[in-house]
Amino acid sequence: MVKNQIQARGISDPATLEAMRAVARHEFVPEELVARAYQDSPLPIGFGQTISQPYIVAYMTELVSPRIGQKVLEIGTGSGYQAAVLARIVDSVFTVEIISELGHSAAARLTRLGYDNVAVAVADGYFGWDAHAPYDAIVVTAAAEFIPPPLVEQLKTGGKMIIPIGSPFRVQTLMLVEKTAAGVKTRSLIPVRFVPFTRSE
Ligand code: SAH
Repeated sequence: MVKNQIQARGISDPATLEAMRAVARHEFVPEELVARAYQDSPLPIGFGQTISQPYIVAYMTELVSPRIGQKVLEIGTGSGYQAAVLARIVDSVFTVEIISELGHSAAARLTRLGYDNVAVAVADGYFGWDAHAPYDAIVVTAAAEFIPPPLVEQLKTGGKMIIPIGSPFRVQTLMLVEKTAAGVKTRSLIPVRFVPFTRSE
């Protein structure tokens, strides 16, 4: 998976590659899909949600430049896979999931696998996780119509956020947001297809 799907497409950050090799992806997919866990595609994880394609997880990880000592926020826990990849690199990962069943099962899975530096909250990630802010990096894994202002607020100066922006069920654009002393810079990267960023009522 790492050699043919990830390195072959240009991912070269050693920390990212190491983390992608270390996390057992088959632990994060439903039992009936274990045989397909390492294939080059997203897979369903229930509740209409998906675990992202391995390459996309690696691409998003590399782009936020995760390093030892950092604190990262993820919005859209899903299976917990992206959180586990980040947790292999940084000191602590805070991840927010809006569907309580998915949040609770991801939390149990991460605990069982020994990822004790990941904390999961069930909430609307639009508001980030203010109690632990500011974050060195923010990774959003559901497609939003616009960049939620609370997330920009909770990003450190010098920090990076990666977020798919666009309409649900259509091709979206992965955007890199960099918060600098001079302001917020955004850059459009590649076309992607993520499940929608939903809001609690
Ligand atoms: N990172 C996940 C991918 C999950 S798919 C993984 O590695 O498996 C995106 C997830 O975002 C879904 O589980 C969906 O329920 C969740 N989501 C959508 N809108 C959200 C919101 N406003 N706050 C938190 N999570 C949200």
